[in-house]
Amino acid sequence: MVFNISGPYYCGNICCSLEEKKVRAFILGLDGATFDVFEEWVDAGKLPNFRKLFEESTRGHLITTIPPLTPSAWSSFMTGKNPGKHGVLDFYELDEEMNVKVSYRKARKATTIWKYFSMKGYRVISIHVPFTYPPEPVNGIMISGFLTPSLNSSFIYPPEMRDEFIKNFPDYRFAENTRFSERREDQEAFREEIFENMKLRMKVADYMMEKYPWDLFMVTFMGIDHAQHWYWRFYDKDSPYYDPEGAKSLGDTIFKAYSLIDDYLGDLLARLGEDTYFCIMSDHGFGRFYKQVFVNNWLKERGFIKFKRDVRTLVKRSFYEVGLDTKKISELVFKSGLGKLWAKFSSESKASLASGFGITFKDVDWRRTEAYSFGYFGPVFVNLEGRFPFGSVKHEDYEKVREKIIEAMLELEDPERGKKIVNKVWKKEEIYNGPFVDRFPDVVVAMDDFAYTSSTFPFPSKRLFATPFTYKSGEHRMNGVFIFKGPGVKRNYFIERPSIMDITPTLMQLFRIPIPEDMDGRVLKEIFE
Ligand SMILES: [Zn+2]
Repeated sequence: MVFNISGPYYCGNICCSLEEKKVRAFILGLDGATFDVFEEWVDAGKLPNFRKLFEESTRGHLITTIPPLTPSAWSSFMTGKNPGKHGVLDFYELDEEMNVKVSYRKARKATTIWKYFSMKGYRVISIHVPFTYPPEPVNGIMISGFLTPSLNSSFIYPPEMRDEFIKNFPDYRFAENTRFSERREDQEAFREEIFENMKLRMKVADYMMEKYPWDLFMVTFMGIDHAQHWYWRFYDKDSPYYDPEGAKSLGDTIFKAYSLIDDYLGDLLARLGEDTYFCIMSDHGFGRFYKQVFVNNWLKERGFIKFKRDVRTLVKRSFYEVGLDTKKISELVFKSGLGKLWAKFSSESKASLASGFGITFKDVDWRRTEAYSFGYFGPVFVNLEGRFPFGSVKHEDYEKVREKIIEAMLELEDPERGKKIVNKVWKKEEIYNGPFVDRFPDVVVAMDDFAYTSSTFPFPSKRLFATPFTYKSGEHRMNGVFIFKGPGVKRNYFIERPSIMDITPTLMQLFRIPIPEDMDGRVLKEIFE
């Protein structure tokens, strides 16, 4: 899609205002925010600034990437492209030797909104957008976000700003230090830290906004996401984990996270004025969480996975059979109060600890294995020849094996609920296109609309279903939040199904930046008068 940027705009007002005034845009990223949760509070008048904003803006449920995962969703926002073109699908990747690796920003192989704007000479400030570590060079400032290791890392661009930042914000954190656990005191402390981090980030945003020039400003908050992941059980009476006792003191955690943003909004919108384009977006929605499903166990049961028969694997399997598995060990470490230490372990070291005790991909007999699962929501890869060193499935058998996997996945049942849980299956080419699709899972599934997740470790337990030791009770959904206001933007208007990939091209159009043909997102023309 290419727009004629020298010709008249589709909106006369924008055209005129562009000639005379400098365009500015501010994006407020709210990881995990969903109308499903907060719209009723807006209607009830409990979030007055959101209420006012709704009247002045266009809004709609923002459709995110499949599956609705933070790294792929934010990457699709930043690039305006589907994951097949930027390469990021999950928090973790497998290397050639089937070791689990954390994927960082550099896994993303497509130009970002920051770069498009920088190249045109616009000044960019970006704070805490997930999956931006290490920060990329921009015409402006970038402070990397979620998954940045610590203040000791190279978290800021330009690096010369580091001292100034640390002097002004010595207590800045990229994540909470406390971990949610079964203990009530940890739950209180964790929630306080969620709120503290949100407030701290507001201070950083205010400081940067006032002190440095910008044309495009973005700040993202993780607080709503975290509150919904861990405090859902105190909020949703129909959650299988609903805790009425805990709800007395913790039931308002999710509301408070939205309310903090509402307070901030009032002040922020007044400062930005009517001429600044203002966008609120989230990377996915939220809903009830049910269970973890260890999809590899299912594939093993169905004969897709075969284990090695050597002594090492046999010994590990005997531990596994009696229930001394990676999940149990992690749980014991977590409950022993060493949870903080465990959290500090890199995924690589957790994985190597796991490989000492538990069954891992190293115990799989790849020559006899047709398929395996790897990824947060349990997608399945065909063990295709040529893809990995020990690929066993011949190209001519690929479709046959894939059909068999789909059939098996559709039969996966949660016996406790008496319910088949896979409600949607996609072949990868139905949802992705681009140079990275070859590396992606061949079968993508939604288990009860993503209310079930899988596990990073391939075989954490002998069981098929379990509850995670992190006590998670809320999980991602497909519909995020889109709110947009500014000169010429329709007021109190509802847009049907905008995509997370549409925001970048829409902003580029407003700034008269040419939109590359291979961008998947489109300009949301219908939101303009
Ligand atoms: Zn997210």
